[in-house]
Amino acid sequence: MLDPHRCKFCGKSLPADLAPGPCGGCLRKPPPQAQTVSLYGYDGPVREAILNWKLQGRDAGLLWLLGAAEKRLVQIFRPEDLLLPVPMPLNRMRKTGQHHAADLCRHIAGITGSRVEWRLLKRTGEQPRQSSLAGSKRRRNLGRAFSLSKNAWQDKEIQGRIWVIDDILTTGTTVRQACKALRPLKQPIHAFTLARTKREG
Ligand SMILES: [Zn+2]
Repeated sequence: MLDPHRCKFCGKSLPADLAPGPCGGCLRKPPPQAQTVSLYGYDGPVREAILNWKLQGRDAGLLWLLGAAEKRLVQIFRPEDLLLPVPMPLNRMRKTGQHHAADLCRHIAGITGSRVEWRLLKRTGEQPRQSSLAGSKRRRNLGRAFSLSKNAWQDKEIQGRIWVIDDILTTGTTVRQACKALRPLKQPIHAFTLARTKREG
């Protein structure tokens, strides 16, 4: 588990006295999300389990990580909450046949009773892999990566909190951009990732 003293908004580590923030970065430029929660630091056995799941398609690693955090997950998510997986680039999904954020949502929903909403958050256009780009390029690359599907939202009354769900938080850009795309909903958007890297960019 990650150490608990963090900025509530972006999830960055903070000295205990300064938690729950906002941290300097969030004071300067408030992020679009009201909260960022991650379960684990992305290293050691956690990283191995995630790589097994993502690269070799073995769910066992993911289930192990979620199973160990079951109590925490039930505290974080309420049954009426809506889980929105960060959509993957279509070309990558076609290639691998996997959608990790969606898998993650499905398993979390199985534990917490929350609902998964697939259609609200959309990818707009194809992007190169984020992990191959540096921070500033990532931000530019993702500028218009996501949008809110108005059709899916129009006739729907949203109860509970809205969560954007992704597997790993690296620089935070993906989560930020996905949350930003949901601004027209005029509701606080929460972000959750299974893990986050130690490098806090
Ligand atoms: Zn912050």
